[in-house]
Amino acid sequence: MDIPRIFNITESAHRIHNPITSEKLATLGAALRLKSGDRVLDLGSGSGEMLCTWARDHGIVGTGIDMSQLFTEQARLRAVELGVVDQVEFIHGDAAGYVSAEKVDVAACVGATWIGGGIAGTIGLLAQSLRAGGMILIGEPFWRQAPPTDEVAKGCLANSISAFLLLPELLASFGELGYDVVEMVLADQDGWDRYEAAKWLTMRRWLEANPDDELAQDVRTRLTSEPQRYATYTREYLGWGVFALMAP
Ligand code: SAH
Repeated sequence: MDIPRIFNITESAHRIHNPITSEKLATLGAALRLKSGDRVLDLGSGSGEMLCTWARDHGIVGTGIDMSQLFTEQARLRAVELGVVDQVEFIHGDAAGYVSAEKVDVAACVGATWIGGGIAGTIGLLAQSLRAGGMILIGEPFWRQAPPTDEVAKGCLANSISAFLLLPELLASFGELGYDVVEMVLADQDGWDRYEAAKWLTMRRWLEANPDDELAQDVRTRLTSEPQRYATYTREYLGWGVFALMAP
């Protein structure tokens, strides 16, 4: 079981697979007022940077589940590197339907809400693992500015304009699901650059090392087109943030 190989190639050098930077991840950890011993569940935990750094900085304990074997291995190595192997556990697997045996203080899905079939489904899934009074974290894109046409939305790799909401609408949608939005940390364009532009150097180096790979042509095409596509569309139109939610 694994995610499509192209992501394991283009994001192999990423510690964070989203436009949030390590500084903003630290800001988020502090903003949530985590306490030592708090339990955190992370569905789609990627390379484990959130759990590992929060374990180091705030003494949380946590479990991450991710479908990428590579990212899960990197997460385990990061736990060793940061000296938090006794606090965090990374499971390689499908997080769809995953409910923790023990209730958690924070249940997160940061940039992977397809795991629960969308925002509402993912909040419902996370809620099943959450203790009463706990916090849900959702990382999700929104439109920084409304794309004028579906063509522009597609340039942002969205299916259509309706794939995402404007920020005020996204915040309202959490309220419509019955949740209070109690914190948020938003990515900025520099953060998008860290996520997107870091893929270009990774692709360039991968191409040099793997010229005959079956994905070489695909990666070459992406390396050639991505900087312009990204600067024209995603960087201008797409926002991203992590939203902390509490049930009433
Ligand atoms: N939250 C992490 C990773 C976000 S990228 C971070 O912010 O760095 C999305 C992640 O979801 C990838 O690591 C991918 O491997 C993982 N993923 C995709 N489908 C999944 C599934 N069904 N179950 C678990 N993880 C999944």
